Amino acid sequence: MKLFSEKIEVKNDKSKEVKELAKLKCTECGKDIIAEIAHANDSICPYCAALFRQPAYKRVEMIVDSGSFIEIEREAKSKDPIEFPGYKNKIVDEQNKSKSKEGVVIGKATIKGVRTALAVMDSYFMMGSMGTVVGEKIVIIAEFATLNELPLIIFCASGGARMQEGIHSLLQMSRTTIALARHSEKKLLHINVLTHPTTGGVTASFAMQGDITIAEPKALIGFAGPRVIQQTTTEELPEGFQRAESLLENGIIDSIVDRKDLRDTLADLLALHSKPAATHEKKSIIREVYDDVFKRN
Ligand SMILES: [Zn+2]
Repeated sequence: MKLFSEKIEVKNDKSKEVKELAKLKCTECGKDIIAEIAHANDSICPYCAALFRQPAYKRVEMIVDSGSFIEIEREAKSKDPIEFPGYKNKIVDEQNKSKSKEGVVIGKATIKGVRTALAVMDSYFMMGSMGTVVGEKIVIIAEFATLNELPLIIFCASGGARMQEGIHSLLQMSRTTIALARHSEKKLLHINVLTHPTTGGVTASFAMQGDITIAEPKALIGFAGPRVIQQTTTEELPEGFQRAESLLENGIIDSIVDRKDLRDTLADLLALHSKPAATHEKKSIIREVYDDVFKRN
């Protein structure tokens, strides 16, 4: 079933895309920075330290121990379930532009020696929108973490559900939620790191499901965007509405962590919650001794 006629297909201005790729404009100081230079500096503006959106693989490189990341399901690609005009071509364009195959990269790695499962959404791929493949990959990594008794860290960055896949995208909200609930039932640690922007169906599902929710400074986090809310309510929104700082003040998130400190913070949290094999064994031996005593009494 085709939802739209071919006539409304949006033409891609490829020359504009190439230009945008080469340079990033800092929204804080207004300066143009060559994208490669910015990304080599953890995607931080060298003039005013404002944060740019960070490509998924750069994020992985910044967070995990060097050489420890093993990607899972790298080749998974979206199909075109509702035959949305221009969608197939758009996916190819986005893959070339972002170097990611889809809106999320998943895998296993170590952070300062502690094993973890990891998912990193890529806002450079269709604004990290959640279609069937993004949903499926989140389900896969949640199930992988559950099966292997690993903690799970998800870096969220999303414009919401992917409209080009219609209802198939919306279904991913319940699928991801269920997979992560099973991970939680096993009492395993799930940390979400909300980066700019985390919105729509991702905020309404797995982005708010973590045991610990961290955000990057000034990240926009919400369901509908502030402009939509302002137009609907016709009320003036308070300053900093839907920004990480306001969410922290209102108890929605646990902490705001500077990008440069994220690896250390995550390593500390993992170490605090990890169960080293030796300790694990010791505990089970102690329990057996107690059981034995209990039985004898
Ligand atoms: Zn700047």
